[in-house]
Amino acid sequence: MYYTESLDKLVKELGKFPGIGPRSAQKLAFHIMKIPKEEARELAQAIVDIKEKTRHCSICNNFSEGEYCPICANPGRDKSVICVVEEPNDIIAIEKIGIYKWTYHVLMGAISPLDGICPDDLKIKELLKRISSGVKEVILATNSNTEGEATAIYLGRIIKPLGIKVTRIARGIPVGGNIEYTDQATLAKAMEKRGEL
Ligand code: ZN
Repeated sequence: MYYTESLDKLVKELGKFPGIGPRSAQKLAFHIMKIPKEEARELAQAIVDIKEKTRHCSICNNFSEGEYCPICANPGRDKSVICVVEEPNDIIAIEKIGIYKWTYHVLMGAISPLDGICPDDLKIKELLKRISSGVKEVILATNSNTEGEATAIYLGRIIKPLGIKVTRIARGIPVGGNIEYTDQATLAKAMEKRGEL
């Protein structure tokens, strides 16, 4: 036993976070030991608050403190275009681009038979209910991995017959990327999705 009981508990708790190994957990715990008591209290309170005050938007499943998230509550948003993503974090990433005024729908995951996740486990029924009222376009912005692709294909198959435009985000070479170092699957997609100059 190298640590005191409370330090041991903190290291163990911090070590549960993704990407935090035992060494990082120890480093963070030592840092917390050094910060003023008030700062530590604020950190603890922020953790409690996020669990007690944050919920999912009743329209799009984004993080929210009220019934609707700030995006759904914003009258300036184009409700006729829904960008479908896997997780709320994806909304943050797309919103950071700062130019889109559409709304979102978070599926809360992706279809993954290997992990036992089927369409019924995702927020697909809720999406279909939303698009039944005046939606013109559904943008499928699921991840570009096997699960994300399978989910996009599945959604395309059920939404297209409803007469709604369904688009899929393009895959290709990252900005600043080099063709020589691009993996074959990405390069193949980039060639396939080439656009006119
Ligand atoms: Zn929302």
